Amino acid sequence: MSRIAIIGAGPAGLSLARLLVEQDLHDITLYEASDSVGDTSESVFADGRTHELSAGYPPSGRSRLTPWMQEAGHTFRPPETFQMDDGRPLAEFVYGDDVWRSRLELTKYLGAWAWFHVREALGLIGDDEYARLAEPFGPWLRRSGMDAMHRLARRSTVAMGQGFLDETSRLWGYRWNTLTRVYKSLTSGTREPDRGWETFWASMAERFHVKRRHRVVDMRRTGREVRLRVEVQRGDLTETETHDEAYDHVVVAVPLTELASCEGATADELWVAEHLESTRYATTLIEVEGWFDEPIDTRAYRERLLPRSERTGADQPLDRTFVASRSPRAGRGSRPLYVVHQYVDPQHDPRTNPEATDASLRARLVEQLREDLVAEGAVLKEVLEQRIGDHSPRLTRAGIAAGGPNRLERMQGRQNVWYTGSSVVHASIDHVVDYNAVLALRIRQAIEPKNLMLHALEKHAAALALHGW
Ligand SMILES: Cc1cc2nc3c(=O)[nH]c(=O)nc-3n(C[C@H](O)[C@H](O)[C@H](O)COP(=O)(O)OP(=O)(O)OC[C@H]3O[C@@H](n4cnc5c(N)ncnc54)[C@H](O)[C@@H]3O)c2cc1C
Repeated sequence: MSRIAIIGAGPAGLSLARLLVEQDLHDITLYEASDSVGDTSESVFADGRTHELSAGYPPSGRSRLTPWMQEAGHTFRPPETFQMDDGRPLAEFVYGDDVWRSRLELTKYLGAWAWFHVREALGLIGDDEYARLAEPFGPWLRRSGMDAMHRLARRSTVAMGQGFLDETSRLWGYRWNTLTRVYKSLTSGTREPDRGWETFWASMAERFHVKRRHRVVDMRRTGREVRLRVEVQRGDLTETETHDEAYDHVVVAVPLTELASCEGATADELWVAEHLESTRYATTLIEVEGWFDEPIDTRAYRERLLPRSERTGADQPLDRTFVASRSPRAGRGSRPLYVVHQYVDPQHDPRTNPEATDASLRARLVEQLREDLVAEGAVLKEVLEQRIGDHSPRLTRAGIAAGGPNRLERMQGRQNVWYTGSSVVHASIDHVVDYNAVLALRIRQAIEPKNLMLHALEKHAAALALHGW
């Protein structure tokens, strides 16, 4: 039986493990650098319910995740309705004064999206076309007369940490703003799992052999097998051990920037790592006094969500609070808790400014938050939890223009190493899971080749069923 190692027990690694088992591939070991699984998922339990500091939505109705979550005992709850600061629902803001014109614009967008989606699923997009898809999403929407979609994208793209509209590529815009997402945003049809994503991934991990506190630091390919060097952390001590056992196949399910420090990284892997960027993003759970007495839970869609170049300059600091969602109430008398989101300004970030520290960054974010709340006539009572991290690792526009997506595709399976996860596919968990369904078929085909025609049919059927329809 082929031995398969998966590096990273985040949503990508765990969902792939499950899909490989469905393909009858059972000898799977997952390596996880940290103590816990599901990494970027972070659910905090406070005041009688879970609050998501990272992934909140969906799965969508047709998602492969939905039955898995139901099987694990999760039910789904709607988040509070999204409204504008003036109390209008998001759909009204998107439609504006001319509902029919806006609907036509949205249909035009979805037509362009469908044309892209089908051809990408079938592997028909060449480097030249990817180069065109590297252009920024926002200006393209405007130029193509899709202002309604531009308004929606402020919510769906900028407010979800995928970057600013005049900086994020059309490719990533398409991958996130699928038919389902557009529809669900306008109908407030999104749902979140009531017991939290973290619990879900933890229960999924129980099915597999997950080596926690095992950081893979090197990969050696011999052509027939792949050897991993793993740093094992015990207590506070870090010791390095070389695993004796080699694997027949290895799947990299961590952002590919992780590979940059591996001695055995290939030129292609280093190239991709150099062409990735992500959003530095902070999510904070706070208690607030005197805010949103009305059931308005999300605001600041207008000026604060404008693409950066359309902002008005100095009075719009990058780390200004731009979305606040009141956590659905646990019941009468529960505390007014909000999850608020901020982009991290590089000038306050220790990664880009040597004078900054983690503590000074956190203090700065809270100071800005406090100031923003005062401007809304509210008072910050307590910071319960703050998460700062990299969000939505993605190919830079230069990386896309230089043929990054097809290069990644050509890397798949070479010397028995495969790639998945947010930096390869997209940050959306639904998307990653659907991509993994195709990847699992490809890995099985590499291990136990089936009739080529049958495999191609199976693969294309799975690819076309990708999230979005
Ligand atoms: C603020 C925020 C909001 C989000 N909202 C949503 C949302 O609403 N809907 C949605 O679908 N998605 C959302 N996401 C995205 C989603 O959470 C991520 O895209 C998804 O978790 C990425 O999964 P992954 O498995 O690719 O990577 P990760 O979650 O990063 O997992 C990688 C794992 O690998 C481990 N690891 C790293 N290096 C090594 C190594 N060398 N050896 C061994 N292990 C290693 C890490 O510890 C981690 O557990 C959000 C993310 C953030 C940050």
